[in-house]
Amino acid sequence: MSNHDQEREQIKAERHQQRQQKVKEAVDAKVAAATEERGVLMVITGNGKGKSTAGFGTVTRAVGHGKKAAVVQFIKGGWDCGERNLLQQVGVPFVVMNTGFTWETQNREKDMAACEQTWLPAEKMLADPSIDLVLLDELTYMVAYHYLDLERVLTALKNRPAHQHVVITGRGCHRAIIELADTVSEVQSVKHAFEAGVKAQAGFDY
Ligand code: ATP
Ligand code: MG
Repeated sequence: MSNHDQEREQIKAERHQQRQQKVKEAVDAKVAAATEERGVLMVITGNGKGKSTAGFGTVTRAVGHGKKAAVVQFIKGGWDCGERNLLQQVGVPFVVMNTGFTWETQNREKDMAACEQTWLPAEKMLADPSIDLVLLDELTYMVAYHYLDLERVLTALKNRPAHQHVVITGRGCHRAIIELADTVSEVQSVKHAFEAGVKAQAGFDY
């Protein structure tokens, strides 16, 4: 390397170091400002794959820290579920809606009754200070189909114990829930194997 090249490399390295220092200062300032510790309401919505996976990932994370987590599964009744099989073994309570997919049952009355049966224990969990994290998987559809009154959901979420985290998953989340939430992620679909003829497989899709 010529002296000139060495000089240029040194200037580049110094500039990089200065930029990183600024980034570090900004991050440190934000970390220092984030001092509050309280229950977070997180919504994972959108059309892409990964919403329930992320919800169960958060449950696993909580359990791994010795926290108490509980899961309520709306819609997916008869569905075999790998996470359920595992998490129940380590004592995570599950409430599962006892109908299949709504577009399979095509019985509004029956679905509404099943929704009510599922929501009542969910409401209890949202009032139980011993539970650190509640996953409400696929809750969004209950509100979208008007099976569940939006105000009831909002009230239960607002009145929950201050330290309790809640994760809500599902497509088309109601605006009012998104507004109430602290953290909202929208999973976008770029492509999905199903569109190329790959079926849903145990151990990967459920
Ligand atoms: P996962 O449970 O894999 O995290 P998800 O919760 O984001 O997926 P849902 O909308 O609940 O997705 O749909 C459940 C099922 O539909 C899963 O088996 C998933 O693989 C499949 N699925 C999810 N997104 C898509 C998509 N964009 N196109 C086709 N199938 C999808
Ligand atoms: Mg899902």
